[in-house]
Amino acid sequence: MSLNNDFIQSLIRPEVLAMHAYKVANAAGFIKLDAMENPYSWPEVLTQQWQDSLHDCPLNRYPDPDATTLAETIRQAHQIPEYSQLLFGNGSDEIIQILLMALAPNACVLSPDPGFVMYRQISQSLGLNYYGVDLQSNSFELDMPAMRRIIAQQQPAIIFLAYPNNPTGNLFDAEAIREIITLAPGLVVVDEAYAPFADASFISELNNYDNLLIMRTVSKLGLAGLRLGYIAGNGKIIEQLNKIRLPYNINILTQVSVLFALEHNDVFLDQSALICQHREQMSKELSSLPELHCYPSRANFILFKTLKHDANEIFQRLKEQNILIKNLSPQGRALTNCLRVTIGKTNENLAFIVALKKALT
Ligand code: PMP
Repeated sequence: MSLNNDFIQSLIRPEVLAMHAYKVANAAGFIKLDAMENPYSWPEVLTQQWQDSLHDCPLNRYPDPDATTLAETIRQAHQIPEYSQLLFGNGSDEIIQILLMALAPNACVLSPDPGFVMYRQISQSLGLNYYGVDLQSNSFELDMPAMRRIIAQQQPAIIFLAYPNNPTGNLFDAEAIREIITLAPGLVVVDEAYAPFADASFISELNNYDNLLIMRTVSKLGLAGLRLGYIAGNGKIIEQLNKIRLPYNINILTQVSVLFALEHNDVFLDQSALICQHREQMSKELSSLPELHCYPSRANFILFKTLKHDANEIFQRLKEQNILIKNLSPQGRALTNCLRVTIGKTNENLAFIVALKKALT
């Protein structure tokens, strides 16, 4: 049976019809430096112990809907304040969706621009009013006069602040964030997806603000395939979000595997430290190239801008040399001619630099 367009259009909301699905590049055969993944695997003995830990998982049963043991372990590992509650999501992407599904129709969602695309994408899919506030053009710092004005005008139900920000990589000024939390008439989500590389966090400030929520993920730490994120904050807010969360959203293999990984956190801390060290080396390399402007990063990726070339072309020339990074130039405006590279293993970083130099000639 072939469906005609009128049929589809009569069923689907116009804002969904107008959207494009989030596209993930096919990375087969490439050195993959496009998605902020941890490039390292585990030592063999650890892999064996992890597989053993899965042996007795009761796959015939539904998982613990509240992931109770995992929640307790995360509370301790990440020093979540006693009175804050936790909610888990199938990646922090799902938590963004849960948060936005809970808002009133036509609510305003605000976030700095450029920012993480899912805040906008999910807001639009739900018919909410997304508002992007431009960051300062050279530093990508928050534009506080604009933030104050737009918060007052739009009265956002929720503000997302990625700390550090994706795709720019910088940490916004902490005092500016505190001012935003105080000014905000609604919720403020500090999205700490890149916390393992940032050496900065608002977790200890959860007790100071009722409208502050902290979102984390295990993806960048090295467990992207497991899909686990969490949000911490005031119990009265988490209680409402829990009504929207699907009951068994965190499968048992994820619960047991993350628990195992947290018991061996030192491995991930070492890997994150190495990634930070390599980030500094990569920053130096990129900054030494006069054809580029390299932005400072507190995450596991670096944003840079081509000054003399079309970034689309450089992106293609890198692909021809089997290197896949992220081309942000099609997003336009502040990201015109911007590319984002994830920090990989030493040999991958080296291959990228060699290929980039060749692409720039
Ligand atoms: N927040 C930010 C700022 C991100 O960059 C990402 C992933 N790129 C996410 C959240 C989503 O992470 P995940 O769904 O893998 O937990």
